[in-house]
Amino acid sequence: MITSSYGFAAPRTAREAAALLARHGGMALAGGQTLVAELATGEAAPPFLVDLGRIESLRGIEPRGGSVRIGAMTTLAELAAHRAVPPVLATAARNVPDPLVRNRATVGGSLRPSGRASDLAPALLALGATVHVTGADSAVTLPAEEYLARSPAGVLSAVDVPVPGPADGCAVARFADRPARPPLCAVAVRATFAGDRLGACRIGVSAGGPAQRPTLLERSLERGGDASPDTVRGRCAEFVSAAGFATDGAASADYRAHLVRTLVVRAFDRIAARRVRDGG
Ligand SMILES: Cc1cc2nc3c(=O)[nH]c(=O)nc-3n(C[C@H](O)[C@H](O)[C@H](O)COP(=O)(O)OP(=O)(O)OC[C@H]3O[C@@H](n4cnc5c(N)ncnc54)[C@H](O)[C@@H]3O)c2cc1C
Repeated sequence: MITSSYGFAAPRTAREAAALLARHGGMALAGGQTLVAELATGEAAPPFLVDLGRIESLRGIEPRGGSVRIGAMTTLAELAAHRAVPPVLATAARNVPDPLVRNRATVGGSLRPSGRASDLAPALLALGATVHVTGADSAVTLPAEEYLARSPAGVLSAVDVPVPGPADGCAVARFADRPARPPLCAVAVRATFAGDRLGACRIGVSAGGPAQRPTLLERSLERGGDASPDTVRGRCAEFVSAAGFATDGAASADYRAHLVRTLVVRAFDRIAARRVRDGG
């Protein structure tokens, strides 16, 4: 039961929404999958709620040359089903097991820190997405890793997601300790190959825990360029322990680091298997 009282508005533009948030120190309401529970427990008690549901400009998925623009109010179910969405991102959305959540939860809401791991954030990090934020009287565009690190004020209006090319291999992997709940850990890999060699690599990681925001482990596997499973396994052991994970009631930092290493290797195995199948 939500016992606190708060002001409420449902504006028609993102600029108006950003102005209301700034003026009242309020919170945006998107699909409500996190926020409504937080209001009920008192974890969130904003003086004002700004419903984003009537803002048409926050909706839609639009291919734009080498990238796709995805409106912040796009639901995970829409993301999972749209043909223009890079398959690895569609898979990340589909990996959220609860259909009720997929039908309500939005891209914008999935990129705010919640203390739990996110399926979407690692895929957006690995793909090199950029995030558009509308403020009360300005707008900024920033890399997803910066948005996730800083959570700037304003309304997240859209994300631009580069479409991987033929030289790219992408995969996600996740581990959930409870059914139909957010994962304990999720990772995504985008590996760019030059023939048999690994040219570049982006690894997005979300491992939950207090203050543990999704992060990008960029270039960790680039050196040397060898993408054999043994090399990947060895390099993961080198870099993941340094990433610094949190300990809480759900898992220890060591266990989280172990999961990340295991899942990154698993994602690479998936990419390798696909390359063998497709003759890449
Ligand atoms: C039962 C259950 C199972 C779940 N399982 C998974 C899972 O397996 N994997 C997973 O990744 N997640 C899972 N989730 C989490 C879920 O994906 C998030 O709750 C959801 O993505 C939040 O999106 P929303 O649109 O509902 O945001 P809301 O709950 O409306 O808002 C969440 C936060 O984001 C802010 N916000 C929302 N939109 C914007 C915007 N456009 N600009 C600025 N701020 C904004 C709000 O102010 C609030 O702080 C689960 C949640 C539940 C309840």
